[in-house]
Amino acid sequence: MTCPICKGPIGTGGMKLRYEGRHYTFCSLRCKMTFQENPDRWLDAGGEVLAEPR
Ligand SMILES: [Zn+2]
Repeated sequence: MTCPICKGPIGTGGMKLRYEGRHYTFCSLRCKMTFQENPDRWLDAGGEVLAEPR
C-alpha cells in the first residue's frame, strides 16, 4: 500500500480518513493533513487520487 500524497509505503501506522464517503489511508499525520487542507487538489471527480496533484 502506498501513500497517495508522498507515494511512500504505508506501514502499520497508517492514518485513515473518511472523506465524502470514501476511505483514504496516509503514511503519516502530516500527509493526512496535507490532503485535508485541500482535497480537491488531490482527487478527480470520481474520488480517485490523481497521479499528480493539481
Ligand atoms: Zn505520505
